[in-house]
Amino acid sequence: MSEQSIAFIGLGNMGQPMCQNLLKANYKVIAFDISASARDAAREAGAAIATLAADAATNADVIITMLPAGEHVLETWNSALASARQGALLIDCSTIDVESARKAHELAAAHGAASLDAPVSGGVGGARQAALTFMAGGTQEAYARAEPILMKMGRKVFLCGGAGAGQAAKICNNLLLAISMIGVSEALNLGARLGLANQAMYDVITASSGRCWSLETYCPVPGPVPASPANNGYKAGFAANLMLKDVRLSQKAAAAAGAATPLGALAEQIYSQFSEAGFGDTDFSGIIKFLETQKRPA
Ligand code: NAD
Repeated sequence: MSEQSIAFIGLGNMGQPMCQNLLKANYKVIAFDISASARDAAREAGAAIATLAADAATNADVIITMLPAGEHVLETWNSALASARQGALLIDCSTIDVESARKAHELAAAHGAASLDAPVSGGVGGARQAALTFMAGGTQEAYARAEPILMKMGRKVFLCGGAGAGQAAKICNNLLLAISMIGVSEALNLGARLGLANQAMYDVITASSGRCWSLETYCPVPGPVPASPANNGYKAGFAANLMLKDVRLSQKAAAAAGAATPLGALAEQIYSQFSEAGFGDTDFSGIIKFLETQKRPA
């Protein structure tokens, strides 16, 4: 068993398997979630259970949060910091807005705690396989303490800069992914209407200048990439609502920073229509089916 004890708060689709990987790596974990069934699952996996965030934090060297949004992280860090040890390290792995991430770092500093924002890429599959990528923001010292722990839940950890830099990197990546999936869908849709087979389009583009991850690895039509959600009825994968959340975060950050993101704004509109049409829980690559049904303006 590792000397370090870790409080893990937020045991949902991502947090549960991440917590389990820390247990497998022999860390002493005390877990908390507001959901009783999530706590039961963590108990079964071998974690000690707390019934309050503050109780989970009391004796922990490291406190990890994996929560839905900025408000939950700030509320939880506030409670945890009130009872945390001097010099504890707080790591937030949730995807939240840059402003809240920076506020969370300020809260930690005011309590004499070290902190890191460390959102992830890789989804539920990556969390289960301990194959996540972490993009971190904070001091070199906090990063050095966090890195060995994060490497038990993932394969790559990048320190991107100071407070909030991990969240900034995450939303810039997902802004690009949101746009590129729409771009790939438009190209495949147009190709199909011009009589081209999807496989022919795939073969040509993956060997040409339009190649990108959205087509090559996550192809939104069935056939060319057997493991892509398109072959499984667009079961998520990465749900359209989560993509919409990230695009919205990118637009909020772009507004605050005064950065022009016209395609990002359009992507937000398109994923929002897709979600409102009832597809929010399906994979975001199903956006191609949605675009196929849209009429070209006269
Ligand atoms: P989820 O909704 O499955 O889990 C969130 C958990 O937090 C739930 O179990 C909920 O009960 C718990 N919770 C909410 N408020 C709480 C509080 N105040 N105290 C304690 N527990 C609380 O979400 P998820 O899919 O696990 O995602 C978690 C974070 O990771 C989100 O920020 C999401 O954007 C990000 N993320 C998700 C994915 C993915 O594919 N699911 C990929 C990358 C990043």
